[in-house]
Amino acid sequence: MPRTDVDALIVGAGFSGIYMLKRCRELGLRALVIEAAADVGGTWYWNRYPGARCDVESMTYSYSFSDDLQREWTWTERYGKQPEILRYIAHVVERFDLRRDMQFETRVTAAAFDDTSNRWAIETDRGETISAKYCIMATGCLSTPAQPDFKGLDSFEGETYHTGRWPHEEIDFTGKRVGIVGTGSSAVQSIPVIAAEALHLTVFQRTPNFSVPAFHGPLDANVVHMWKTRHQELRERARASRIGDIFEFSETSALDLTPEAREAEFERRWGQGSFNFLGSFADLITSREANVFAVEFAHKKIRGRVDDPAVAELLCPTDHPFGTKRLCVDSDYYETYNRANVSLIDVKAAPIEEITPHGLKAGGKEYELDAIIFATGFDAMTGALLNIDIRGHGGIGFKEKWSDGPRTYLGLAVAGFPNLFTVTGPGSPSVLSNMMTSIEQHIEWIADCMGYMEAHDLATIEADPEAEDKWMDHVTELADGTLFFESNSWYVGANIPGKPRVIYPYVGGVGAYREICDDIAAEGYTGFTLAPAGESVAPAVGA
Ligand code: FAD
Ligand code: NAP
Repeated sequence: MPRTDVDALIVGAGFSGIYMLKRCRELGLRALVIEAAADVGGTWYWNRYPGARCDVESMTYSYSFSDDLQREWTWTERYGKQPEILRYIAHVVERFDLRRDMQFETRVTAAAFDDTSNRWAIETDRGETISAKYCIMATGCLSTPAQPDFKGLDSFEGETYHTGRWPHEEIDFTGKRVGIVGTGSSAVQSIPVIAAEALHLTVFQRTPNFSVPAFHGPLDANVVHMWKTRHQELRERARASRIGDIFEFSETSALDLTPEAREAEFERRWGQGSFNFLGSFADLITSREANVFAVEFAHKKIRGRVDDPAVAELLCPTDHPFGTKRLCVDSDYYETYNRANVSLIDVKAAPIEEITPHGLKAGGKEYELDAIIFATGFDAMTGALLNIDIRGHGGIGFKEKWSDGPRTYLGLAVAGFPNLFTVTGPGSPSVLSNMMTSIEQHIEWIADCMGYMEAHDLATIEADPEAEDKWMDHVTELADGTLFFESNSWYVGANIPGKPRVIYPYVGGVGAYREICDDIAAEGYTGFTLAPAGESVAPAVGA
């Protein structure tokens, strides 16, 4: 039976929505999760492309909230493969008996706040309207695929795929001529795997990305033991860190070292794999001069891995500072270009003109293909939220309010939209961190907040417009002190035509951000207006 009246309505059954449901239950709230997909998993339900896996290590890319869960689940590899992560998510859902409060294959289309009843009316594509006191958007930062509208796309007679909407059945590229558009993280993971299977793989690259080696492999038994015995201490370190992981971030400037010492430190960090390299020096993302050293080091590594010097040059990013686009983490990505069955086409110099019935045309040349893969990314951070017609006080919508870019208080709440929370929303560290740490921090903060509301018999909580303005100024000011705006990345909305060019995540770091959020809660929710039942909240100015 559809439930039409709940305390908390949660949109999304990825890592965020699942944990939010658990915490709602613990508060004694009647909660319901609505999910567009046919099952749980979010990112890991949708992204099933060959080679899909996390690039934050499994031991930290997993929930930390339960000691028992941490002890009983054993990851097999340093970076979990998509099927293993999905199995883990399903295990968590079963273990905590969460599935019975989830509704699948249902898309939330609209949510409107009723100023009289102080409740949200949430509409779905099944024609239901659900009434809820709290509405929690756990809709994901990278859940709305971006599909470029290439001329002739519908005319293609072969197979087409988007990495973020990969089919559930096995796709066999054996004997096929495959084309892939894009060279971001999804492409960097899938290219080596597809190249090993396909007759020929043609990579259409517009902008090369920086990629660091994963040094992937089976999980070392000692590492597992260390985590199982010290996990609380290690997780605490991750929570207080800059990017929500246990990396050590250097406090030293890259400019303070001799060239030899700097090189040695880069080499050491490179050898550790994954995002360790980003922690090499304190000023890699704030100083252009320091950043150039990282660029040169990465270029040298690419040239060392790719046999053909012309191909190597094409793969060397020269248009953006190191680390200002989401860093890729690879296994044999560059070596794949040494294969005879792989070619790299520069579609910046000769842009894609159209998709034809038999392939793809770029720079006047037609490439004949049996399958085209679009690894073209996502309408990140705001896409899923803006796909829902969310209306707050006086019918004002997210779309109008965010026409010049998203405005939030802490990336958690929006002035004019009481009792609505955005998990890892714009203006929070989210995608600039190990997202498991940021997700847990947000869910716990929201749960504590709802617990406070219930304990004090409060009807509404709403961000003050002044607090929101101040937060947004802070978010922008911090980003202005970095090199992020020098890059056409999705961090600044550059991948979606017409998307406002602002900084979407909070660059101030996970640990510092957590302290701000905790202080605000401890002070009785500074910057929010809390109102008891029967007392209406004044419509927010400037909402
Ligand atoms: P999601 O997992 O995106 O779940 C959101 C859910 O909401 C989706 O299932 C979606 O269908 C649903 N939804 C959205 N809108 C609606 C609607 N209107 N109605 C109903 N349902 C809706 N992060 C890391 O930290 N480390 C990694 O290694 C890493 N690897 C990644 C690999 C890939 C391929 C991608 C795409 C992202 C990766 N990320 C990684 C980021 C990843 O998105 C997060 O780590 C995390 O999985 C997000 O969980 P979530 O629950 O917040 O959102
Ligand atoms: P992405 O990083 O945004 O990359 C999209 C790629 O498509 C870019 O190379 C882009 O080129 C290209 N592209 C887009 N439109 C194009 C067009 N019209 N013509 C030619 N090329 C076009 O997307 P993604 O690889 O899916 O990754 C998105 C994010 O998901 C990552 O940054 C990461 O946060 C997460 N992710 C993580 C992992 C992991 O390793 N764990 C794996 C996959 C994804 P331009 O750069 O020129 O725009």
